[in-house]
Amino acid sequence: MKDMATLLIKNIILNGQKRDLLIDDNKIAKIDNAISGDADKVIDGKGKRVIPGFINTHSHSAMTLTRGKYEDMSLQKWLDKIWNLEAKLDEEMIYWGTKLAALEMIKSGTTAFVDQYWMIEQGVKATKEMGIRSLHSEVVLDGLDESTFEKNCAKVIEAHQKSKDWENDFTQFSITCHAAYTVTPKLFKWCADYARKNDLIFQFHLAESRKETQDSFNQYGLSPTQYIDSIGGMDCKAIAAHAVWVDDKDIDTLAKRGVTVVHNINSNLKISSGYKFKYNEFRNRGVNVALGTDGCGTSNNLDMIETMKTTAMLQKAWRENPTSMPLNELLDMASINGYNAIGVDAGKIEVGKIADIILIDTFSPVFVPNYNFEANLVYAANGSCVDTVICNGRVLMENRVVEGEREILENAQYQVDRLSKLIND
Ligand SMILES: [Zn+2]
Repeated sequence: MKDMATLLIKNIILNGQKRDLLIDDNKIAKIDNAISGDADKVIDGKGKRVIPGFINTHSHSAMTLTRGKYEDMSLQKWLDKIWNLEAKLDEEMIYWGTKLAALEMIKSGTTAFVDQYWMIEQGVKATKEMGIRSLHSEVVLDGLDESTFEKNCAKVIEAHQKSKDWENDFTQFSITCHAAYTVTPKLFKWCADYARKNDLIFQFHLAESRKETQDSFNQYGLSPTQYIDSIGGMDCKAIAAHAVWVDDKDIDTLAKRGVTVVHNINSNLKISSGYKFKYNEFRNRGVNVALGTDGCGTSNNLDMIETMKTTAMLQKAWRENPTSMPLNELLDMASINGYNAIGVDAGKIEVGKIADIILIDTFSPVFVPNYNFEANLVYAANGSCVDTVICNGRVLMENRVVEGEREILENAQYQVDRLSKLIND
């Protein structure tokens, strides 16, 4: 992986037309029938399609280390086991867990991700080395214990100060309050206010399960959405994960507050928290909807193509309406909508846009015939059709080769072996 000034992709198919595409520094500089002249690197795009890279807008990246560890158990039992395991994670484990996640994301065409995990400096280090765009967050969770308020505020301020050593447009800092049921109203409000005053993105899990929603009505007389709004939690640049259990009033509130909602269908399905995501209602009211995988503990992989497929299948199935999830909207949810949420001008193949782009190899059975490329991509292919990944103008993968892949796999396995000795199940 090396910085380069110009990158020329020859003979690539863009929107059904053969084109040359020139990247200068980190932006798409020119798209034309034939571009001549010298470039620092030339890629032959013959037989490939160019599309915007995907953004995984909700993840807990180092949970790759928990992949497949606890299966077929109740949510509460699963949570108890995961929390016990996570308490044993150290910096080295989180570093290699994040490297593993970044490798998997690059190999399946993801060029950016929004992360929530502990020890963010390890996540930042791993991600920067891998060259993938990211937004990391300080995660706040006080277990509804108000006596820790001052301590938690100080932690947020300290993390924010420290982030000034590494933060830039490519690797951003944000604040996360885990959820309304794990954070006191006082701290939740303080974090949202702090995010607004410092122009930071603020994240939280919202209305993920039926139980969470019923508990909120019982405790506050309000849905989770109305409750968080009532304490000022949406009075900032907010990204809310899940929002499965919402009504029309909630959707109006999310629209009014400009909250980005992230749909994580595979995680929702696997932990049986719900699947009737109201995409059409969100869209019709102008809510920005993006897609995520959630952590590998519940989604098992970070494949955004699989995520798109499941999203579309479930939307069509529960509504009994095959027109409810058009392909172009689905692709926007996996790319530009997430980029808009983090304020990055990517997600489209146009001159002037940031070059977070991927090349898809169509010389494969699943792309023949090619009546509809987008349909083949979402419904027939999977992440392994991604041939080349370019992020911020830098080549992270070419011909499916990522530098250092073997070392990452071996080290991640070594960390899993260390972790296994610390947990007794
Ligand atoms: Zn999550």
